[in-house]
Amino acid sequence: MRFLVSNDDGVYADGIKVLTRALEELGQVTVVAPDRERSATGHGITVYRPLRTREIKYKNSTAKVYAVDGTPADCVKLGLEALMTTPPDMVISGINLGPNLGTDVLYSGTVSAAYEGIINGVPAMAVSINTWENPDFTYAVNFIKEYVPYVLQHELPEGVLLNVNIPNGIEPKGIKVSRLGYRRYIDVFDKRTDPRGRTYYWLAGEPKNLDEDDPTTDVNAVKKGYISVTPLQMDVTHYNFLEELKKWPVNTRRE
Ligand code: MN
Repeated sequence: MRFLVSNDDGVYADGIKVLTRALEELGQVTVVAPDRERSATGHGITVYRPLRTREIKYKNSTAKVYAVDGTPADCVKLGLEALMTTPPDMVISGINLGPNLGTDVLYSGTVSAAYEGIINGVPAMAVSINTWENPDFTYAVNFIKEYVPYVLQHELPEGVLLNVNIPNGIEPKGIKVSRLGYRRYIDVFDKRTDPRGRTYYWLAGEPKNLDEDDPTTDVNAVKKGYISVTPLQMDVTHYNFLEELKKWPVNTRRE
């Protein structure tokens, strides 16, 4: 098996090194990841300047590792189209420090790296751990080594990726296949004053989970100590409303 690994915490993050080591036991790994942290960059790409790559080495690893001065989506695109000679069997992004649950996936560089995989027809998975400090990757690694070969054997439908969130510091109760919860951030902007008396705003805030008690959500699954797996699709068309929208009697032509 061949893997393309990326992330948004940067090529030197512990999570991506742990992921690389786990996947090296399953096959050949190429790492293409940002040269610094690019969390919350969503699906941004770099078009107004060139991208530079630098080959680095991970300790005790045979993986080819490229540090790129671009976004996670840039990295996967570059990996697939320019750096890898044969396409990988799977793109895996992570292990992200911090969960990517519910609405977070729309902002997540980790998930966007996986999206870039399926956009290019390669099965993909995004993996995050539910903590921002002192991560214990033991169970994440066990899960990856078990689950990744299984997924490849059973084949994901085209245009579908798996978003995985792993609890931290406890043995997971099992896997729960879940839907995205609805997460909104409250007290989002801190309004402050700079030394010249001008106002500025700093994005902060706490996530508020609007349906965390709903047992079908990813937020609930992780809260209850399960590994959450959510299938996400590339096509975000709302098909039911599409039909309804066709019936709207709007005429834009002036007669
Ligand atoms: Mn991150």
